[in-house]
Amino acid sequence: MEKRIDSNLQIEGEPDQWVHSACLLCSNGCGMDIAVKDGRIAGVRGNPDHPVNFGHLGPKGKHAWVANNDRQRGTLPMIRRHKGAAMEQVDWPEAMDFFIARFRAAWDQGHENLACYNSGQLTLEEFYTLAKLWRGGLQSSNIDGNTRLCTATSATGLMANFGADGPVASYVDIDQADLLCLYGHNVAESQTVLWERMLAAKKNNGGRIIVVDPRKSPTVRQGADLHIQLRAGTNVALMNGLIHLLIRREAVREDFVNAHTSGFPMLKTVCDEYPPERVAEICGIEQSILETAADWIGGTEKMVSTVLQGFYQSVEATAASSLVNTVHLLTGAIGKPGAGPLLMAGQPSAMSNREAGADGSYPAYRNPHNEKHMRELCALWNIPFDDFHPEVPNDILTMMESAERGEIEFMWVIGTNPLVSLPDQNRSRKILDKLFLVVQDPFVDTESVALADIYFPTAMWGEKTGCVTNAERSVNLMLKAVEPPGQARSDFDIFIDVSRRLGFLDQDKKPLIGFQEPRDAFEEWRRVSAGRPCDYSAMTYELILEMGAVRWPCNARHPRGTERLYEDLHFWTGIDDCESYGADFLTGNKHTRDNYKHIDPKGKAFLKPAHYRRQPNPVTEAFPFLLNTGRLVYHFHTRTKTGRSDVLNRRAPHAYVEIHPEDAARHGIALGDTVEITSPQGTWQGLAMVVDSVRQGEVFIPFHYGQGLEAANQHTWYARDPVSKQPQFKSSPVALRKLSFGAPEQWLVDRLKELDGSMTVPFAMRT
Ligand code: SF4
Repeated sequence: MEKRIDSNLQIEGEPDQWVHSACLLCSNGCGMDIAVKDGRIAGVRGNPDHPVNFGHLGPKGKHAWVANNDRQRGTLPMIRRHKGAAMEQVDWPEAMDFFIARFRAAWDQGHENLACYNSGQLTLEEFYTLAKLWRGGLQSSNIDGNTRLCTATSATGLMANFGADGPVASYVDIDQADLLCLYGHNVAESQTVLWERMLAAKKNNGGRIIVVDPRKSPTVRQGADLHIQLRAGTNVALMNGLIHLLIRREAVREDFVNAHTSGFPMLKTVCDEYPPERVAEICGIEQSILETAADWIGGTEKMVSTVLQGFYQSVEATAASSLVNTVHLLTGAIGKPGAGPLLMAGQPSAMSNREAGADGSYPAYRNPHNEKHMRELCALWNIPFDDFHPEVPNDILTMMESAERGEIEFMWVIGTNPLVSLPDQNRSRKILDKLFLVVQDPFVDTESVALADIYFPTAMWGEKTGCVTNAERSVNLMLKAVEPPGQARSDFDIFIDVSRRLGFLDQDKKPLIGFQEPRDAFEEWRRVSAGRPCDYSAMTYELILEMGAVRWPCNARHPRGTERLYEDLHFWTGIDDCESYGADFLTGNKHTRDNYKHIDPKGKAFLKPAHYRRQPNPVTEAFPFLLNTGRLVYHFHTRTKTGRSDVLNRRAPHAYVEIHPEDAARHGIALGDTVEITSPQGTWQGLAMVVDSVRQGEVFIPFHYGQGLEAANQHTWYARDPVSKQPQFKSSPVALRKLSFGAPEQWLVDRLKELDGSMTVPFAMRT
């Protein structure tokens, strides 16, 4: 991809300074500089020397920084003295006293009475500090990040084959590949700059792109050479069908499989049951499409596969994603230039959370069921192993169910907006309302803050220093450019304060969290991560500034980082290396160390089979459509940042529903009409988009929009993948009816053009 400097500067003349940073609005983690004028952020520009984006920025990166200067930034803490009372502004000492008193009161009932739900928006240093506080200090298993909703399956899918988390290939491999397979990944909208890089690679290499997606998304329109438009919920059947054909056509590299993998006979037995005729019928696709895909996949070793929400947000998520890795292992397309699976993250710091352990993992991909790993962690933290009780953390939906039963009373929500993002919004609202809820956020007006009993105002991107890891293991450093407004504090400072006030000490009676600055936390993290897959031991802030970004592992063997994992074809599957002893794809039951002793592949990769199973919530006569939810190019998550940009909002001010033209005709619906969508969970009302981006019998609503009638999560539910516990956001049965005629506004007409391919989804929006 050629260098270019995209910028958006909203002042006359030059800023006072440019400060090194990275975009925090998707997992691409584009390098950028922040313009500072009179102590305020005044714009951004892409960094042309950054190895991820070469100066390119997408619409969100260019425009969402205005959120920093928004009037709804929180400047003082607030507390609600009792349920039903109004929130009142107080100073930090009073807010902290109130927090600690309620925290201790809940803790007196048992440490599992408290829960923490954090964000993919914190820095590595903040995640590490929080993980140390919660696991080393409180020792509660109730901690999760909003990565659970987005890309938790990336971690479990990678562990299933390779023993540990860690995206295998990198963007350098995308540059060199001649086949890109995008599984459930609408990259043209979710990571626009990565899409530019993919299109440049395709052009340079004369390569091809396969897209697997029930929607004819902008990615399909702009770049697919083959679109597998399968039925929602049939990913595992598709993968089994592809593997069946690879075996039948002798495209499997037997020498490679024998030398480097374990489990082929059982995989073959299962995939024998998926001949193309059966798979075509299950998936609702032409058999020839499947055969062409198998031909292309079997015909090259220079193949990179990306995986995202279309595979992750499903009840068979881990199985389907692991089978993508399996295809690479069967064809030998791994561990060499231009080849490898790249199970994507959604937010740039989601990866940092997985590494540091403030979600479903333990620091540096340690295995909580391996005594050696936990003894090592206790020694690093200087806490007694005999008093340490590591437990696998609960996922957010399990915590919500516990709260519903009254088993959790106190929840600390950090930098995320669960009222909008969690499934089954009406149920989630009732549960959140019942809790003693602390919300720590840069903005005072989010839907979740409205339910809070305590509000802590925080610094955001540009107002604090720290690292974030992108989807291909590149670690960026974001430097503090300006002060946060009023008395807002960084999450990092709040965690240290809370730990000190709760009296968490190490075994020398010194503060458990002994550092005061992000750089000191990073130095400790380098020691904690040493020797593990995400090894930072040779990485420094200076090295990151010099290189723009550094891919881990970065250690004595790879002092300037590592382009791709597993070049030696030795995987993290040994019994004392692996991050997890694995779990059954169907039930989620975890294997024990004793079980693992019998299957320990000692450094070979696993090939794990999975049978297709019918969706637990099929359409019915009353609810005959399947609802899919997903992202728009103009917004990020629940719009707490992008919703504050006029430029972005003008392009996508409201939710809408995509309806296939034949379904629309049967219901007398035209573009711009108001329609109602109902399900057993709730009611949605909004505008109709009539377009063949969706299959007949399926509809699509973007999930970004708040509570009430515009919220797609009116209809989603608490079903989840048994292993990754990622919710099924992609197929909920619903009914559709027209409410009233309407004339489409210009933004809806423009969106239609983006979806039908007559207008290109913008890369940079040069407004
Ligand atoms: S692709 Fe866009 S949103 Fe993602 S990091 Fe880059 S500029 Fe930000």
